[in-house]
Amino acid sequence: MTRIIVSKFGNVNRDEIKSILDIMSEAYARLQPHNVELVDVLFFENYSILQGFFSREKTLFKVSENLGNEFSAIHEAWRGLPRISLSMDRLSRQDESVLRGTVRHEVGHSVLHGSLEYYIFQTPSALVKLGTPYRFSAEYIRNILYLTAIAVKDFEVTDLLYDHGYHDDQIAYAKDLLKPSSNDLESWKLARGNRSAEVLCIAGRLKDLLCATPIMRSPRPKVELGKVAESGLSYFSPAISKRMIDVGLQLSRVMTGSTHRKVEIASEILCEKLFETILRNS
Ligand SMILES: [Zn+2]
Repeated sequence: MTRIIVSKFGNVNRDEIKSILDIMSEAYARLQPHNVELVDVLFFENYSILQGFFSREKTLFKVSENLGNEFSAIHEAWRGLPRISLSMDRLSRQDESVLRGTVRHEVGHSVLHGSLEYYIFQTPSALVKLGTPYRFSAEYIRNILYLTAIAVKDFEVTDLLYDHGYHDDQIAYAKDLLKPSSNDLESWKLARGNRSAEVLCIAGRLKDLLCATPIMRSPRPKVELGKVAESGLSYFSPAISKRMIDVGLQLSRVMTGSTHRKVEIASEILCEKLFETILRNS
């Protein structure tokens, strides 16, 4: 049985904590067998308290990645153990099914990616090759690798949850993610015309797309989510959004093996079929 260690930051309603812990306990039981004996769950009253906490943690653990500011929940294992942090102001604004989908998504991460090795990836040769002709900085390549790795991990989580019968909530969660945020739209506006910045924006949406593609293996959700994905990515251009979806579906079919192996496979295919074509257009 998984022990959940609860910490509270700010004023968080007890009933809300209880209902989230119920969702988690059910998921840890259903996802057996797994090795999660202990998980830290941090409840934050609001996003700014969470942000303050994470800026200290990032300094402490020398984490350079920009976590973005769009999420209501996050999983990491920087301390070597799985830890889930929840921003209750944002979570409580979500529809019931999206909320359940979000909480289970984080549980899925803790089952699959609950140790430090899932936060350390060597740069795959495809990404090194991509960088050479364009003289990309090591930091730029690291950003692309980070965005690819989180997309692969999100793919694995949906795959696991969908396989264990979490269907409606995972469809609701994926649909919610596929909608572009104001930040996505703004970043794209700023990136237009600068191919390397465009690639970063596109790589940044892969996690949302790869959350949906494992579900799109079934025919009915494939049509339904395909439409949502098309419209959610349409601000890029019809050609780019179509290419992204095709590549996402291809990745979903061919990625196998460990998380690290999947990141290598994804990097190869993404460089060849997506990133290169955007960079060559310059
Ligand atoms: Zn995730």
